[in-house]
Amino acid sequence: MTWELIQQQLKYVETNSVFYREKFQQLGISVDKLLPKDFTKFSITTKEELATRNKDFICVPKSEIIDYVTTSGTLGEPVTFALNEADLQRLAANEEKSFQLAEVTLEDVVQITTTLDRRFMAGMAYFLGLRKLGAGLVRVGSGVPELQWDSIKRFQPTYLVAVPSFLIKLGKYAKDHGIDCKNTSIKAAICIGESLRDENFKLNALGKKIEELWGIELFSTYASTEMSTAFTECEAHEGNHILEDLIYTEIVDEQGNLVKDGEVGELVITTLGIETMPLVRYATGDLVKKITSPCKCGRQGARLSSVLGRKKHLIKFKGTSIYPPQITEALADWPGIDLHLVKVSTSEVGTDHLEVILPNSFPKEELATLKPHLRAKLRVVPEIVFWEFEKLQQTVFNPKHRKPIRFIDERTQGDKI
Ligand SMILES: [Zn+2]
Repeated sequence: MTWELIQQQLKYVETNSVFYREKFQQLGISVDKLLPKDFTKFSITTKEELATRNKDFICVPKSEIIDYVTTSGTLGEPVTFALNEADLQRLAANEEKSFQLAEVTLEDVVQITTTLDRRFMAGMAYFLGLRKLGAGLVRVGSGVPELQWDSIKRFQPTYLVAVPSFLIKLGKYAKDHGIDCKNTSIKAAICIGESLRDENFKLNALGKKIEELWGIELFSTYASTEMSTAFTECEAHEGNHILEDLIYTEIVDEQGNLVKDGEVGELVITTLGIETMPLVRYATGDLVKKITSPCKCGRQGARLSSVLGRKKHLIKFKGTSIYPPQITEALADWPGIDLHLVKVSTSEVGTDHLEVILPNSFPKEELATLKPHLRAKLRVVPEIVFWEFEKLQQTVFNPKHRKPIRFIDERTQGDKI
């Protein structure tokens, strides 16, 4: 079944995509004669190709395009994406399934605390998915805790859609204003943009903090504009279910070979049923594991772990390999560190130099115990640097970005997250 869908998508791009037609010709591949085992002969599509040949990926005439969005620009500059009517309907079906996995029904009211505009695909996806599902929805948008709480009181929503860090912010606002977070109409949050669980499905430090603050069920999702598909946890909370009729997933190693099930590798995706900008064997840069054992919920098909790191963000510091989320996790364990930034740069001798930036208010006497804690967790101790609280706050919660910035990569060819 999946192979038929892949073949349909390949035939479609062979006919309609300047980029893929050219690529298939170079590889000497004709989709008609292709066997499933030959699928891996297609070379990987890279982020760089998508950025530099952006327009050559578009398969429909301009008059058909309805919605223009951009990628989050997690690795480099944002890239344009476009959707036609069929893609918007596919997006709605995708998000409806995602909400169903998180047990949202038409009896529920969902408050969306992420932006619907700002060229953000996911915000529109939530709206379309909930509309298709028939659930109630409240479009509050991002930020403004006061309006969020007013909406919670006024509309009694049962779910929040939120970036995890924002739930912490919202919880703190509640504490300061005498609102009891654990005693509201909210029973669960559908979280995007940041991982909530470790590779063994246990809540990570961020997830635990939210649970302590709110006492609600947390559903992880993983999605991106390029994939135009969401991977969502079910009630078992043991991995994000793959919507296999909408996306084909492969996990590959450094050389591009498939890894064994359960091993960590880079996620490579082929979107299915997309008309405007379909992608074939696109390397996401995200490191995940595929879980093929049956899920407790009884649904068929594989699941993906949380994103365990980003390939390009690998830091080699004093002989140790580290991914930024490990540093965030180690710091989140430390009481009183609510704000931090990880920065990597290239040293004079060309190696990675790693810094952790904390607010000036951090009690310096705690450094004597924080450093051994970091060494125990990371095997190395990054340089600790202090910034004014305001400057750090503005850098982490930069209004130009849809997610908090926890990592700055200033290495030669560095990126921001
Ligand atoms: Zn399940």
